[in-house]
Amino acid sequence: MPTMAEIVNSFSWSRSRDNTFQECRRKYYYHYYGSWGGWDATAGEEVRRLYVLKQLSSRQQWAGRVAHDAIEMAFHAFADGRDIPVEPFVADVIARMRGDWRSSKAGRYRDEPKTPALFEHEYAVDLKPEVWQALSKNVATCLRNFFRLPLLATIRKTASEHWSIEHWSKVFDFEGTAVWVAPDFGFWTDEGRLALVDWKTGAANGAAAAFQLGCYALYANEVLGVPPVKVDLYEANLREPRVTQLQWDDARLQQIKEQVRLSVRSMKAYLVDPEANVAVPADFEKTEDLRICRWCNFRAVCRPEL
Ligand code: SF4
Repeated sequence: MPTMAEIVNSFSWSRSRDNTFQECRRKYYYHYYGSWGGWDATAGEEVRRLYVLKQLSSRQQWAGRVAHDAIEMAFHAFADGRDIPVEPFVADVIARMRGDWRSSKAGRYRDEPKTPALFEHEYAVDLKPEVWQALSKNVATCLRNFFRLPLLATIRKTASEHWSIEHWSKVFDFEGTAVWVAPDFGFWTDEGRLALVDWKTGAANGAAAAFQLGCYALYANEVLGVPPVKVDLYEANLREPRVTQLQWDDARLQQIKEQVRLSVRSMKAYLVDPEANVAVPADFEKTEDLRICRWCNFRAVCRPEL
């Protein structure tokens, strides 16, 4: 493990970073600056606290991640030529969710921040057992739908050595800024087109989803050298299930680039030293929209009165 002194908090851009920045500047500060170094248990008390809070997921985020991880596992099995018995597989995933839930409920994450940590437990949100049951039921539904998806049958007919299973969590240089983009899944179609897929397990959010897929198109263009006309983007809503195919073109790619540029510029404008990526909390205003605060990980530090 490198020590804290060896890791530099350097600026990089991602869509989730943009999201946090748009939501609340102070939240953005806590997440990307204030909690920096808190992985070290001997870090200052506030830094450590922010770091622990930063790891919290809402129950919906957690369920989404569980489903994504399960799908990734399924693809590994398919790539190895193994088949998957759906019901035992789903039962296994649900059992793992129960284990996660218990670990979080017991507060293990306070000492080991990388273990499951649910917002609802940290903030003692009183939820009926039915709410938790609905959550695991939704994961089960999404997974069953996944296995039945015509898109999956199409994918499985293509050569698995060209699949990209793990989040292609790749950082690339975009006009001098490190950009993180992670398509959920990618494959080459029989027609020689690049298909990038986004699995959705929650309610659809049109504008955000379009920006995300646009970033995939950017990734395809910048990293793989594939122009927008040769890319198919799929938004696979597993709850319904419904697969929407989007086509991208050069003009829309230009818009995405402009959106990313603008976002980077706005973030850097908040720094006291953009070169060294240094920020001071007082520059980052708290949102006035208390509805955002209600579900904010950092509420206990930022607005304990709520
Ligand atoms: S509690 Fe509210 S003001 Fe504070 S960081 Fe969170 S969203 Fe922003």
